Amino acid sequence: MIKYYMPTKVYWGSKVIASSDEDFTKLGKAALIVTGKRSAELSGALAEVTNIFRNQKIEYHVFDEVSENPELETVHRGAELFREKRCGFLTGIGGGSPIDAAKAISVIAANNLTGREIYEPAKITKAFPIVAVPTTSGTGTEVTPYSVISDKNVSKKGGFGNPLIFPVISFCDPRFTYSLPEQITIDTALDALSHLLEGIYSRNRCEFLYPFIFQGITTIIRSLEPVLSDPENYELRENLMRASLYGGIVIAQGSTTLQHSIGYPLTTHYGLSHGMANAVVMEKIMELFSSSVGDDLKALFTYTGYSREEFFNWLRKWIPLKRLSLPEAFVDSSAEEIMGSRNMAQNPQEVSVREIKAILNSL
Ligand code: NAP
Ligand code: FE
Repeated sequence: MIKYYMPTKVYWGSKVIASSDEDFTKLGKAALIVTGKRSAELSGALAEVTNIFRNQKIEYHVFDEVSENPELETVHRGAELFREKRCGFLTGIGGGSPIDAAKAISVIAANNLTGREIYEPAKITKAFPIVAVPTTSGTGTEVTPYSVISDKNVSKKGGFGNPLIFPVISFCDPRFTYSLPEQITIDTALDALSHLLEGIYSRNRCEFLYPFIFQGITTIIRSLEPVLSDPENYELRENLMRASLYGGIVIAQGSTTLQHSIGYPLTTHYGLSHGMANAVVMEKIMELFSSSVGDDLKALFTYTGYSREEFFNWLRKWIPLKRLSLPEAFVDSSAEEIMGSRNMAQNPQEVSVREIKAILNSL
């Protein structure tokens, strides 16, 4: 059986916000625009969104307090502002962090959630509409029902998933990624690459999506290096944004796996960006899962035209040479945390603590 659900209306292309025929008054009279510190402005997306809101007489308020790996405390503050200003919908502009924050604010405000209730699925029965405007090409959150929000009191990355938080509309304009610095371009592309690979690893893998996966991976391999020396090349930026969208479509159906769970403690405790945390374990994870999905991976590499060896030579270019040499205590506590994470149910095979520790010790 194939079950496929993707309720987001995606507008795609250059200057797509101004040229869409979307009537925002149907979503509400006032919007909370959720952003990070600078990217919404730097990318040009904020000006295009506020312009259309002004034209349609939508009142808007900007909440710009979202930092990387957003915090529970921050989204509660955003929800307060949402209520205070009597907003009817949200627009998340930025990378995964502000868009995920907009998703969280939506359900906190709609269900009057307090404390850690956001992590309790039964408490979430409604949501305010979310509009997403990605300015990175990585997370695919513009088409996923997930939001990654951490609670600093718990000191690990957490999140929640609910079909109610699929954005109702996403505006994907590759021009908004022109301003991305080189390292963030790399890190986010590696995140998209992880999502696509996990579409093969996932226990819920959907072969129906393999054309997206194979093409997305090929596109990243071909476009990442050239875009770094030509950051305002529309076609190359569009390629990466498309691969990221495909990655989002893929994980929205199957969720992520060990590949993502193992990266979370590396981000929390070693400050590795989300994409890089995935990338450093990619080779080992593929080795591990080859016993379950070896034929699918063979088909992937045949499609890409690159051998597995060539793929890893390409991947190693983006990964720092210096070893992490993780301390034993960290490896032990992380392995336990990883074993308990919800993505582990998606692995294509049983994974033992010993196998997780071996991967962490190899870094
Ligand atoms: P991000 O954390 O949103 O942003 C990273 C950095 O990039 C920030 O400094 C940001 O600046 C900057 N930036 C973003 N767009 C820019 C642009 N166009 N020009 C210049 N700078 C720009 O990065 P992300 O990798 O997209 O998101 C990562 C988060 O998403 C993680 O928390 C991850 O766990 C989560 N995630 C969610 C899903 C999902 O389905 N929900 C899937 C995978 C990952 P500002 O601070 O100024 O914004
Ligand atoms: Fe990710």
